[in-house]
Amino acid sequence: MRDYFESRGFIEVHTPVIQAAGAEGGAVLFPLIYYKKEAFLRQSPQLYKQILMASGLDKVYEIGPAFRAEKFHTRRHVSEFLSLDFEIAWIDSEEDVMKVLEGLVHHSLKETKKECKTELDILNAKINVPEVPFRRLTYDDVLKLLLKRDIKIEWGNDLEDSQEKILGEIMEEKGVEWYFITKYPSKIKPFYIMMDGKISRGIDLDFKGMEIASGGQREHRHDILVKVMKEKGLDPHQFSFYLESFRYGMPTQGGIGFGVERMIQQLVGMDNIRETILFPRTPERLVP
Ligand code: ATP
Repeated sequence: MRDYFESRGFIEVHTPVIQAAGAEGGAVLFPLIYYKKEAFLRQSPQLYKQILMASGLDKVYEIGPAFRAEKFHTRRHVSEFLSLDFEIAWIDSEEDVMKVLEGLVHHSLKETKKECKTELDILNAKINVPEVPFRRLTYDDVLKLLLKRDIKIEWGNDLEDSQEKILGEIMEEKGVEWYFITKYPSKIKPFYIMMDGKISRGIDLDFKGMEIASGGQREHRHDILVKVMKEKGLDPHQFSFYLESFRYGMPTQGGIGFGVERMIQQLVGMDNIRETILFPRTPERLVP
């Protein structure tokens, strides 16, 4: 993945893990005492990588830990995971983000298949290198496909884990392992995603029925950003360090957050994401 970014002029960055505010506020953050103030472990490098788009670093990527205080007990959630993020400036739409993302997956799987034959044999894992461009399904397409299996989702609701899994089965029957879901309803996407009324420019990338990456085109206009924050119940004052960088002009921009362990889990067919991590962190597990 690094090869791919480096050969395309991306710059690797390291942004703070100790942060003053989360990307989406509240519930899923781990608080910590930072001298006499409250701070949090980062949920994602979202806000910092976006700020960098105002600095002339037009293409950045970061690979580092992200933390979620979710009390989930699922096969795809842990409290600490490795997040791969990229952000690019001067885009026309979320299509530009998807092009980088599918290129990244294609390149990394092709190289892994070539370089890691022995390891893949030991793990009994077979990599099918997906052709680009990946299939693009709109949110509405997904609703229709699931309806054919008698699964009715009300327009505007997010997909549940089990529904994502069935979609994965439907796509595998068509010989498709990797696919994008586009044109999500605005109300289920975070404030920093650009919205065209009820439909957002947010995208997800799924692999065999599991969400691996999420992102899209960002809102780069200061006043709209503030308005959407308020509508979503967030206090813009808490994000002033972020909003400041939008005040004097910000290029159009987009990017994604990518769960590295989730990709490995699906690639080698592990039941639980914990199997892919040396020392997993879960709500019950803090040692070793
Ligand atoms: P989900 O709906 O599956 O909980 P999310 O919408 O919270 O995921 P994002 O915040 O968009 O996920 O994070 C981007 C990516 O980071 C996800 O697509 C996933 O691959 C990964 N990720 C997010 N949360 C976790 C977690 N708790 N454990 C492992 N990977 C995660």
